[in-house]
Amino acid sequence: MKKSKKESGAISSADVNGIPEDKEINTILKRIRIIGALAVLVILSLMVRGCGVFGGRKLIEYKETQSFFGSQVTIQCYYNKKTNIFPVIKKCWQRLSEIQISMNSRSSVGYVARLAESGFYGVQVPDDVYGLLEDSLEYSRLTDGAFDVTISPLVRLWRDAEAAGYVPDNVSIKIAKDKVDYRLVRLEEDNMVFLQKQGMKIDLGGIAKGYAVDAAAGILRQSGVEHFLIDAGGDIYCAGKQEGKIPWKVGVQNPAKKDALIDELKLTDKAVTTSGNYERFYEIGGKKFSHIIDPTTGYPQDLVQSATVIAPTAQEADAFSTALCVLGAKKGIDIINALDDVEAMVVQKKKDRVKIYKSKRYNDLR
Ligand code: AMP
Ligand code: MG
Repeated sequence: MKKSKKESGAISSADVNGIPEDKEINTILKRIRIIGALAVLVILSLMVRGCGVFGGRKLIEYKETQSFFGSQVTIQCYYNKKTNIFPVIKKCWQRLSEIQISMNSRSSVGYVARLAESGFYGVQVPDDVYGLLEDSLEYSRLTDGAFDVTISPLVRLWRDAEAAGYVPDNVSIKIAKDKVDYRLVRLEEDNMVFLQKQGMKIDLGGIAKGYAVDAAAGILRQSGVEHFLIDAGGDIYCAGKQEGKIPWKVGVQNPAKKDALIDELKLTDKAVTTSGNYERFYEIGGKKFSHIIDPTTGYPQDLVQSATVIAPTAQEADAFSTALCVLGAKKGIDIINALDDVEAMVVQKKKDRVKIYKSKRYNDLR
C-alpha cells in the first residue's frame, strides 16, 4: 500500500468540507469511542495534566480537546518530563487549523475553493494539498473509483436538495455525475493541478480528517512523544500504549444501537476510522440518505451501515472506510484483503437482517 509522502501522521469530515454547522455539531457522533479513561464528549477545550508511574517509568499524562471540522478533536498523551509538551501540542492545533482552512470545500478561502473557481485553467497548490491529491487518486484506482475526491458536484446537489426538501431529479443527477471523474484530475510539475472539465470541483471530506490526524501524529512523534492517542470524532490514531503499558482500547459503535458497542479493538501504532450512514445523512421528505455518494449512480449509498478500517495511517483508514460504504462488503473486503496491513469490518443489510463481514486478519486486532 502506498504511503503518504507527507507528514506521517493529521482532520474530520463532518466536513472538512465543513465549516462547523450547528446541525453537524449536534450530529457529531462518536462513531468510534475510546473505552476507559478517554471521555471524548468534551465541549470546547479541556486540559488535563496528570503524573504517575506509567509503564514502569515516570510518564506524565496530558489531554486536551478542541473543535475542528465540526468535530471535537482530543489529543491524549503520556510523555516523559524532558519533553516540553505545551509547544508541541500548540503546534498540533496550529497545523490542524491550517489544514481546516486549506482543505475545506465550504470555505471561500483555501486551495479547495481556488480549485473550484479556476481548476479548469490550473491552480498551483502547496506540497501538502498536492501530495494528498496524489494519494487520493491512488485510493481511487485501488477502489475502482468508489473513493473519488471529485465527488463535490454530487455532494452539493444532495446538500441543496436537502435544503430545498426534494430528492434531485434524474437530469440534475446526470449533469452533476458527468463532472465527477478522478481520471480527469491532472497533476503536473510545479504542483499544478488541472480539473479537465468545466464545473469540476474537489471535496476532501472523505480523507482530510484522517490526513489531519496523521499530521498531528507526525508532530508528536518528531517531538519524541511515543504514547498518544488522537481522536477526531471517528478518525483515531493510537501510538505506542495507553499509560505507556497496554494497547489502546477502542470501541466500535453499533450502527443500529446508539451508545452500544459492536466490537472492541486493541491497537498500537495504528489508525482506525469508521464511516457510516447512521450518523451523518441528508434528510429529505422524512427519508434519510447517506452522505456517502456512489460516483457511478450519483445516489447516496444505502447498503452499508458502517465500515471500520484499521490501517498504518489515518489517511488510508479514512479513504478506505468511505470507499467500503460505496463498494459494499463483498467487493470491499476483497480489496482490503489484497492490501498489506489494512483490515476492515463492514456492517451491511442482508434482506431484513444485518450481517457483519470481516477481513482475514481483522480478529487479530481484537
Ligand atoms: P467519511 O465520513 O470519511 O466517510 O466522509 C464522508 C464525506 O466524504 C462526505 O460528507 C463527502 O464530503 C465525501 N464523500 C462522499 N462520497 C464520497 C466518495 N464516493 N468518495 C470520496 N468522498 C466522498
Ligand atoms: Mg473517510
